[in-house]
Amino acid sequence: MTFQWSVHQLTEYLSEVSGQRDEAHAMAVAAERAAEALDAEAAVVVVAGQVRACVGFGLDGPPPALVRSPQTGRVLRAPGIGDLHPFVADLGRGVEGMLVVARLDEPLVAEEFQMLHGMAKMLGLAIRGLRILEAERILRETREREAQQRLELLEAVRARQRLVETLLEIQRAISGRRPLQEIFDAITAGASGLVGGWGVALVLTDPGGQDPSVIASRHGRRTQDDAAVRASAAVAMAQGDGIGPDGPGSMGDPCCAGGAGQARGPLIAEPVRVEGEIVGSLVADLPSEPNSTSEWRALLTAFAQQVSLALADARTMKAMREAFHDPLTGLANRALLLEAMEQAIGASHPEAGDITIIYIDLDGFKAVNDSSGHQAGDELLRLVAIRISRCLRSGDMAARVGGDEFVILLEGADQAMGVEVAERIISAIREPFYVADREVFVAASAGVAQRRPPCADAADLLSTGDIAMYQAKQRGRGRVVVFEPTMRATIRERIELQSDLRRAAGFRELSLQYQPIVSLTSGAPVGVEALIRWNHPQRGPVPPGEFISIAEETGVIRDLGSWVLEESTRQVREWRKAFPGLRLNVNVSARQIGFRRFPAEVAEILARTQLPGHSLTLELTETALMLDPDAALLHLEKLREHGVQISVDDFGTGYSSLSYLRKFPVDEVKIDRAFVAYLDRSTDDLALVRAIVELGRSLRLQTVAEGIENDRQLAALRELGCALGQGYLLARPMDPEDVGSYFRRSGWRAADRTEGILNQLAS
Ligand code: C2E
Ligand code: MG
Ligand code: MG
Repeated sequence: MTFQWSVHQLTEYLSEVSGQRDEAHAMAVAAERAAEALDAEAAVVVVAGQVRACVGFGLDGPPPALVRSPQTGRVLRAPGIGDLHPFVADLGRGVEGMLVVARLDEPLVAEEFQMLHGMAKMLGLAIRGLRILEAERILRETREREAQQRLELLEAVRARQRLVETLLEIQRAISGRRPLQEIFDAITAGASGLVGGWGVALVLTDPGGQDPSVIASRHGRRTQDDAAVRASAAVAMAQGDGIGPDGPGSMGDPCCAGGAGQARGPLIAEPVRVEGEIVGSLVADLPSEPNSTSEWRALLTAFAQQVSLALADARTMKAMREAFHDPLTGLANRALLLEAMEQAIGASHPEAGDITIIYIDLDGFKAVNDSSGHQAGDELLRLVAIRISRCLRSGDMAARVGGDEFVILLEGADQAMGVEVAERIISAIREPFYVADREVFVAASAGVAQRRPPCADAADLLSTGDIAMYQAKQRGRGRVVVFEPTMRATIRERIELQSDLRRAAGFRELSLQYQPIVSLTSGAPVGVEALIRWNHPQRGPVPPGEFISIAEETGVIRDLGSWVLEESTRQVREWRKAFPGLRLNVNVSARQIGFRRFPAEVAEILARTQLPGHSLTLELTETALMLDPDAALLHLEKLREHGVQISVDDFGTGYSSLSYLRKFPVDEVKIDRAFVAYLDRSTDDLALVRAIVELGRSLRLQTVAEGIENDRQLAALRELGCALGQGYLLARPMDPEDVGSYFRRSGWRAADRTEGILNQLAS
């Protein structure tokens, strides 16, 4: 037969073979086409000793001999087919194999044989091509897979980084002591944001341990209703463990699976613990296809731990606040102050000496407390704390260390700065306060102490401030005193006096002297002022100027004041039998007038001792009146009902405002000794005394000049028209047993007229 295959057909063969998607198909097509083209009954492709494609041999496949050692021209007997003439062509370089065709009758002619070789070579070529493509495909796939893995890794790293950043942000908020609500909002928002808009809610029990409620929530794509969230939280809390999508109370549970046809994923929840106690739960709805639930639960656990941290921190802070702060004013307490002082002292250079404290004590606070009640007292302390804080720089520490005692710690400040700040505080406190709808006046005394070697520790520095403050009180209140080492001895003495006075009040080391009050026109006495005396067994006489303030501080003043009143009224009642119309002046301290029962007590004493109320005058200083003006007014008016008269002692040394003279029911002013002392020399004092006498006249007040020591003073006062006087020139304070003879000597009769005048004035 003639063989007619054109180059064109060969090209088509090549494109068909190499167009197959893999080697197997290429070989199958090659075997088929070769058998077809060469009109052969059978064809086989053998590669690496294996039959890879086969045509025409039926189910049994080619005879093994054909596969094992095929030779062109060696006739082979194939069972069921007949004698075959095999023709073998090598697949060429790079592919170890061959294309074999077998014809039943005639052998191939040379052209056909050539053709077979061509087809075999082309198959070889196609196989090589396909192998390269395959290798490339595998390579590409590997690269793509690797790229994908890298991408996933990157995404995981990014997610982790986002998580870390979010957690860090929350940590910062916790350590920055942001408000809890802000932290909780950040936690739910952070958890939600990390998993593409998760719905996250925080459920906490209230401090009473009841009624879990949703404290913060960030709703994701789907919104879980509060009831479902709370129910899930309750399960997690009851279990003490996280609940996953398969856990109780989640998928399938009516409370959590979402109702009414809504496509919702299950809820997962993690308990929130504080110090081992379960206080709430963080609840999240899982995305509807939860393929990595465990990861999400781990994430939720991380956020639940943040809630625990925030709550534990808040508890610690609260406990610390309670341990180190004064609950009333919110200022530091003594413990915290000492701690801060220790730290400051420890940190400062031994010679730096740049730590200064101001020790402040309110003047007149106890009077407010006694007259207006503890609630008003507390409110006043709160307001004082605010005023003090306003006078400070941001680094300064203010502490309340006792009832009405405050201490300011100034670091990097010397004594001069301490005095400046103290003065600022004192003038701020001097301004009126509005407490319980009333105007209240208090003042403050301040001690300033700078740390100086060998000042050992905080307690030592604090005590030096305390001592300086004490001195400030001693020197007349409302002032600033800087600590000096000599003060220590003074303070020791004072502390001794305190305990001695307590004892004295019981053992009656106390007695009274009486100083006559004399009519300056007639020179005859009209009354007496009772003056207390303390005869200390070791020290001898202690002047009242020294111990009255101690009696006020220790509270002894209450008993002491009653005793003076009882003793002097009883005494004057006795004297009045011989000297009718004799009047009695009794000094009353600022603290006494504030006592709620003071007016009642005076009335009781008057009733007991049978002294008529109108013959008693109570002497109060301006400061005592102004400490708590409303209480003073109320008490004075009550006293007035019993006829008791009121005198302003040491007039001119206290408040500059005279308006109170109208406000209070005042009957008498006693011109302070200080003005009388220079009356004969200073024109200023003369003018002042004249003004007081004039004022007294226009307000119909009795004027009494104190401390008249010489004739010039007496003459000047007479000339000014001052009605009454007291002083060593006229009569010194005297023991009771001397009073009778004094009266007789000085012609008591003249006093009767004065009594008449005074009674007129009083009515
Ligand atoms: P005071 O009420 O102003 O009493 C007058 C003070 O001046 C008395 O001092 C008196 O002895 C003194 N004095 C009188 N005439 C002269 C004088 O010509 N020259 C000088 N230099 N002094 C004169 P005393 O007894 O030491 O009392 C001092 C203060 O103690 C009193 O001032 C009064 O505020 C207070 N005080 C005295 N007794 C009592 C009392 O029973 N209760 C209360 N709460 N205070 C009292
Ligand atoms: Mg007096
Ligand atoms: Mg006086």
